[in-house]
Amino acid sequence: MSSKSVILQCKEVSVEFDGFKAVTGMNLELARGELRFLIGPNGAGKTTVLDVICGKVKPVSGKVLFQGKTELTRRKEHQIAELGVGRKFQAPSIFPSLTVMENLEISMRQQRGLLAALRARMTREDEQRLKDQLQMIGLERKGAWRAGGLSHGEKQWLEIGMLLLQEPQVLLLDEPVAGMTDKETHKTGELLRQIAAKRSVVVVEHDMEFVRNFASKVTVMHEGRLLREGTMEEVQRDARVAEVYLGKRRVELDVSRSTA
Ligand code: ADP
Ligand code: MG
Repeated sequence: MSSKSVILQCKEVSVEFDGFKAVTGMNLELARGELRFLIGPNGAGKTTVLDVICGKVKPVSGKVLFQGKTELTRRKEHQIAELGVGRKFQAPSIFPSLTVMENLEISMRQQRGLLAALRARMTREDEQRLKDQLQMIGLERKGAWRAGGLSHGEKQWLEIGMLLLQEPQVLLLDEPVAGMTDKETHKTGELLRQIAAKRSVVVVEHDMEFVRNFASKVTVMHEGRLLREGTMEEVQRDARVAEVYLGKRRVELDVSRSTA
Protein backbone atom coordinates (compact mmCIF):
# COMPACT_ATOMS: atom_id res chain seq x y z
CA MET A 1 0.00 0.00 0.00
CA SER A 2 1.59 3.31 -0.98
CA SER A 3 1.66 5.88 1.80
CA LYS A 4 -0.37 8.22 -0.38
CA SER A 5 -3.43 6.01 -0.30
CA VAL A 6 -3.38 5.66 3.49
CA ILE A 7 -5.82 7.91 5.31
CA LEU A 8 -5.56 6.63 8.88
CA GLN A 9 -2.93 4.76 10.85
CA CYS A 10 -3.04 3.50 14.42
CA LYS A 11 0.51 2.81 15.52
CA GLU A 12 1.20 0.67 18.58
CA VAL A 13 -1.84 2.05 20.37
CA SER A 14 -2.29 0.92 23.99
CA VAL A 15 -5.14 1.83 26.31
CA GLU A 16 -5.46 1.18 30.03
CA PHE A 17 -8.45 1.66 32.30
CA ASP A 18 -7.27 1.83 35.92
CA GLY A 19 -4.35 -0.44 35.08
CA PHE A 20 -6.45 -2.87 33.02
CA LYS A 21 -4.97 -3.27 29.55
CA ALA A 22 -7.96 -2.88 27.24
CA VAL A 23 -5.86 -2.44 24.07
CA THR A 24 -2.20 -3.39 23.62
CA GLY A 25 0.08 -2.32 20.75
CA MET A 26 -2.75 -2.11 18.23
CA ASN A 27 -1.85 -1.35 14.63
CA LEU A 28 -4.40 -0.50 11.97
CA GLU A 29 -3.91 1.02 8.54
CA LEU A 30 -6.90 2.26 6.60
CA ALA A 31 -6.78 3.18 2.92
CA ARG A 32 -8.80 5.86 1.20
CA GLY A 33 -12.11 4.50 0.00
CA GLU A 34 -11.78 1.34 2.07
CA LEU A 35 -14.58 -0.47 3.89
CA ARG A 36 -12.95 -2.26 6.82
CA PHE A 37 -14.59 -4.59 9.30
CA LEU A 38 -13.25 -4.81 12.83
CA ILE A 39 -14.39 -8.00 14.49
CA GLY A 40 -13.60 -10.08 17.56
CA PRO A 41 -15.26 -11.49 20.65
CA ASN A 42 -16.87 -9.31 23.29
CA GLY A 43 -14.31 -7.30 25.21
CA ALA A 44 -11.68 -7.62 22.46
CA GLY A 45 -11.14 -3.86 22.45
CA LYS A 46 -12.96 -2.93 19.23
CA THR A 47 -15.04 -0.09 20.63
CA THR A 48 -12.01 1.22 22.52
CA VAL A 49 -10.06 1.44 19.25
CA LEU A 50 -12.84 3.57 17.73
CA ASP A 51 -12.87 5.66 20.92
CA VAL A 52 -9.14 6.33 20.52
CA ILE A 53 -9.48 7.32 16.87
CA CYS A 54 -12.29 9.80 17.57
CA GLY A 55 -10.54 11.18 20.65
CA LYS A 56 -13.00 10.00 23.28
CA VAL A 57 -10.32 7.89 24.96
CA LYS A 58 -6.65 8.84 25.21
CA PRO A 59 -4.13 6.00 24.85
CA VAL A 60 -1.25 5.52 27.31
CA SER A 61 1.05 5.11 24.32
CA GLY A 62 0.96 5.00 20.55
CA LYS A 63 -0.13 7.32 17.79
CA VAL A 64 -3.02 7.83 15.44
CA LEU A 65 -2.02 9.54 12.21
CA PHE A 66 -4.64 11.12 9.99
CA GLN A 67 -3.60 11.75 6.39
CA GLY A 68 -0.06 10.72 7.24
CA LYS A 69 0.71 13.78 9.32
CA THR A 70 -1.92 14.93 11.80
CA GLU A 71 -1.51 13.20 15.15
CA LEU A 72 -5.02 12.72 16.53
CA THR A 73 -4.30 11.51 20.06
CA ARG A 74 -3.30 15.01 21.13
CA ARG A 75 -6.52 16.58 19.89
CA LYS A 76 -9.92 17.04 21.39
CA GLU A 77 -12.94 15.11 20.19
CA HIS A 78 -14.56 18.08 18.45
CA GLN A 79 -11.30 18.96 16.68
CA ILE A 80 -10.99 15.42 15.36
CA ALA A 81 -14.58 15.59 14.12
CA GLU A 82 -13.82 18.88 12.37
CA LEU A 83 -10.76 17.35 10.71
CA GLY A 84 -13.06 14.84 9.06
CA VAL A 85 -13.48 11.81 11.31
CA GLY A 86 -17.14 11.00 11.98
CA ARG A 87 -18.18 8.61 14.71
CA LYS A 88 -21.44 6.79 15.15
CA PHE A 89 -22.08 5.29 18.56
CA GLN A 90 -24.29 2.29 19.23
CA ALA A 91 -27.24 4.38 20.44
CA PRO A 92 -28.41 6.89 17.82
CA SER A 93 -28.10 10.55 18.79
CA ILE A 94 -30.90 12.25 16.92
CA PHE A 95 -33.43 14.86 17.98
CA PRO A 96 -36.58 12.77 18.42
CA SER A 97 -39.03 15.67 18.58
CA LEU A 98 -37.80 17.23 15.33
CA THR A 99 -38.63 15.93 11.87
CA VAL A 100 -36.26 13.80 9.86
CA MET A 101 -35.56 16.72 7.52
CA GLU A 102 -34.95 19.12 10.44
CA ASN A 103 -32.44 16.67 11.90
CA LEU A 104 -30.57 16.60 8.61
CA GLU A 105 -30.72 20.37 8.28
CA ILE A 106 -29.23 20.91 11.73
CA SER A 107 -26.40 18.60 10.90
CA MET A 108 -25.66 20.36 7.62
CA ARG A 109 -25.64 23.75 9.34
CA GLN A 110 -23.36 22.50 12.10
CA GLN A 111 -20.73 21.65 9.54
CA ARG A 112 -20.42 25.32 8.65
CA GLY A 113 -19.71 26.57 12.13
CA LEU A 114 -22.11 28.35 14.42
CA LEU A 115 -21.97 31.90 13.06
CA ALA A 116 -22.31 30.90 9.45
CA ALA A 117 -25.08 28.54 10.44
CA LEU A 118 -27.07 31.26 12.18
CA ARG A 119 -26.75 33.69 9.30
CA ALA A 120 -27.17 31.29 6.47
CA ARG A 121 -30.35 30.89 4.57
CA MET A 122 -30.92 27.66 2.75
CA THR A 123 -29.91 27.90 -0.86
CA ARG A 124 -31.41 25.77 -3.57
CA GLU A 125 -28.22 23.69 -3.54
CA ASP A 126 -28.58 23.15 0.22
CA GLU A 127 -32.11 21.92 -0.26
CA GLN A 128 -31.01 19.58 -3.01
CA ARG A 129 -28.22 18.27 -0.82
CA LEU A 130 -30.67 17.47 1.96
CA LYS A 131 -33.02 15.75 -0.46
CA ASP A 132 -30.20 13.67 -1.93
CA GLN A 133 -29.11 12.66 1.54
CA LEU A 134 -32.67 11.76 2.51
CA GLN A 135 -32.91 9.54 -0.54
CA MET A 136 -29.54 7.88 0.07
CA ILE A 137 -30.62 6.78 3.54
CA GLY A 138 -33.92 5.51 2.14
CA LEU A 139 -36.16 7.92 4.04
CA GLU A 140 -37.40 9.99 1.09
CA ARG A 141 -41.01 9.38 2.07
CA LYS A 142 -40.45 10.18 5.73
CA GLY A 143 -38.83 13.61 5.64
CA ALA A 144 -41.74 15.16 7.54
CA TRP A 145 -41.94 12.39 10.15
CA ARG A 146 -40.98 13.05 13.71
CA ALA A 147 -37.60 11.32 14.10
CA GLY A 148 -38.78 9.74 17.35
CA GLY A 149 -41.45 7.87 15.40
CA LEU A 150 -39.00 6.07 13.12
CA SER A 151 -38.14 2.38 13.49
CA HIS A 152 -34.87 1.44 15.15
CA GLY A 153 -33.22 0.82 11.78
CA GLU A 154 -34.50 4.07 10.29
CA LYS A 155 -33.11 6.02 13.25
CA GLN A 156 -29.71 4.49 12.61
CA TRP A 157 -29.89 5.51 8.94
CA LEU A 158 -30.93 9.02 9.88
CA GLU A 159 -27.91 9.34 12.11
CA ILE A 160 -25.67 8.02 9.35
CA GLY A 161 -27.19 10.63 7.02
CA MET A 162 -26.53 13.34 9.60
CA LEU A 163 -22.91 12.25 9.87
CA LEU A 164 -22.49 12.18 6.09
CA LEU A 165 -23.71 15.77 5.78
CA GLN A 166 -20.67 16.76 7.81
CA GLU A 167 -18.55 15.32 4.98
CA PRO A 168 -16.25 13.07 7.01
CA GLN A 169 -13.36 11.41 5.20
CA VAL A 170 -13.34 8.62 7.73
CA LEU A 171 -16.56 7.21 9.18
CA LEU A 172 -16.48 4.99 12.28
CA LEU A 173 -19.54 2.85 12.97
CA ASP A 174 -20.01 0.69 16.06
CA GLU A 175 -22.29 -2.31 15.43
CA PRO A 176 -24.63 -0.43 13.11
CA VAL A 177 -26.92 -3.41 12.42
CA ALA A 178 -27.38 -4.49 16.04
CA GLY A 179 -31.10 -4.89 16.71
CA MET A 180 -32.08 -4.46 13.06
CA THR A 181 -34.44 -6.73 11.17
CA ASP A 182 -32.95 -8.84 8.34
CA LYS A 183 -34.36 -6.46 5.78
CA GLU A 184 -32.91 -3.42 7.57
CA THR A 185 -29.56 -5.20 7.90
CA HIS A 186 -29.47 -5.86 4.18
CA LYS A 187 -30.32 -2.25 3.38
CA THR A 188 -27.62 -1.07 5.76
CA GLY A 189 -25.10 -3.24 3.94
CA GLU A 190 -26.01 -1.57 0.65
CA LEU A 191 -25.75 1.83 2.30
CA LEU A 192 -22.27 1.08 3.70
CA ARG A 193 -21.08 0.02 0.25
CA GLN A 194 -22.37 3.25 -1.22
CA ILE A 195 -20.69 5.33 1.50
CA ALA A 196 -17.36 3.55 1.07
CA ALA A 197 -17.33 4.47 -2.62
CA LYS A 198 -16.36 7.99 -1.55
CA ARG A 199 -15.09 7.67 2.00
CA SER A 200 -13.17 5.32 4.26
CA VAL A 201 -15.33 3.39 6.67
CA VAL A 202 -14.51 1.28 9.73
CA VAL A 203 -17.35 -0.92 10.92
CA VAL A 204 -17.19 -2.75 14.24
CA GLU A 205 -19.36 -5.78 13.78
CA HIS A 206 -20.61 -8.75 15.67
CA ASP A 207 -22.83 -10.30 13.02
CA MET A 208 -20.52 -12.66 11.06
CA GLU A 209 -23.16 -13.34 8.44
CA PHE A 210 -23.26 -9.64 7.70
CA VAL A 211 -19.47 -9.38 7.40
CA ARG A 212 -19.33 -12.46 5.19
CA ASN A 213 -21.43 -10.65 2.59
CA PHE A 214 -18.64 -8.16 1.98
CA ALA A 215 -15.46 -9.01 0.13
CA SER A 216 -13.53 -6.32 1.98
CA LYS A 217 -10.68 -6.61 4.45
CA VAL A 218 -11.33 -7.82 7.97
CA THR A 219 -9.30 -7.07 11.11
CA VAL A 220 -9.70 -9.47 14.02
CA MET A 221 -8.97 -8.39 17.58
CA HIS A 222 -8.66 -10.57 20.64
CA GLU A 223 -7.90 -9.51 24.21
CA GLY A 224 -6.88 -6.03 23.13
CA ARG A 225 -4.52 -7.15 20.40
CA LEU A 226 -4.51 -7.51 16.66
CA LEU A 227 -4.96 -11.21 16.00
CA ARG A 228 -5.27 -11.44 12.22
CA GLU A 229 -5.97 -9.32 9.20
CA GLY A 230 -7.07 -10.39 5.74
CA THR A 231 -10.03 -11.27 3.59
CA MET A 232 -12.97 -12.97 5.30
CA GLU A 233 -11.83 -16.23 3.68
CA GLU A 234 -8.30 -15.93 5.04
CA VAL A 235 -9.56 -14.97 8.46
CA GLN A 236 -11.98 -17.89 8.57
CA ARG A 237 -9.20 -20.31 7.64
CA ASP A 238 -6.94 -19.03 10.42
CA ALA A 239 -6.68 -21.58 13.23
CA ARG A 240 -6.20 -18.97 15.96
CA VAL A 241 -9.22 -17.00 14.80
CA ALA A 242 -11.27 -20.18 14.69
CA GLU A 243 -10.23 -20.92 18.23
CA VAL A 244 -10.96 -17.54 19.81
CA TYR A 245 -13.90 -16.45 17.75
CA LEU A 246 -15.36 -18.43 14.91
CA GLY A 247 -14.81 -21.73 16.70
CA LYS A 248 -16.56 -20.46 19.74
CA ARG A 249 -19.44 -19.26 17.61
CA ARG A 250 -19.60 -22.60 15.84
CA VAL A 251 -19.75 -24.42 19.16
CA GLU A 252 -22.53 -22.09 20.25
CA LEU A 253 -24.37 -22.78 17.01
CA ASP A 254 -23.94 -26.54 17.44
CA VAL A 255 -25.23 -26.33 20.96
CA SER A 256 -28.27 -24.34 19.90
CA ARG A 257 -28.91 -26.86 17.13
CA SER A 258 -28.68 -29.90 19.42
CA THR A 259 -31.04 -28.39 21.94
CA ALA A 260 -33.49 -27.16 19.30
P1 ADP B 1 -15.43 -4.68 22.43
O1 ADP B 1 -15.98 -3.45 21.81
O2 ADP B 1 -14.49 -5.42 21.54
O3 ADP B 1 -16.49 -5.58 22.98
P2 ADP B 1 -14.38 -2.82 24.40
O4 ADP B 1 -13.43 -1.99 23.63
O5 ADP B 1 -15.69 -2.25 24.71
O6 ADP B 1 -14.54 -4.24 23.69
O7 ADP B 1 -13.72 -3.22 25.79
C1 ADP B 1 -12.42 -3.79 25.89
C2 ADP B 1 -12.15 -4.08 27.35
O8 ADP B 1 -12.00 -2.87 28.07
C3 ADP B 1 -13.27 -4.84 28.04
O9 ADP B 1 -12.69 -5.75 28.95
C4 ADP B 1 -14.04 -3.76 28.76
O10 ADP B 1 -14.67 -4.25 29.91
C5 ADP B 1 -12.93 -2.76 29.11
N1 ADP B 1 -13.42 -1.38 29.16
C6 ADP B 1 -13.96 -0.70 28.12
N2 ADP B 1 -14.26 0.56 28.49
C7 ADP B 1 -13.92 0.67 29.80
C8 ADP B 1 -13.97 1.73 30.75
N3 ADP B 1 -14.44 2.95 30.44
N4 ADP B 1 -13.51 1.48 32.01
C9 ADP B 1 -13.03 0.27 32.33
N5 ADP B 1 -12.92 -0.77 31.49
C10 ADP B 1 -13.37 -0.58 30.22
MG1 MG C 1 -17.95 -2.84 21.51
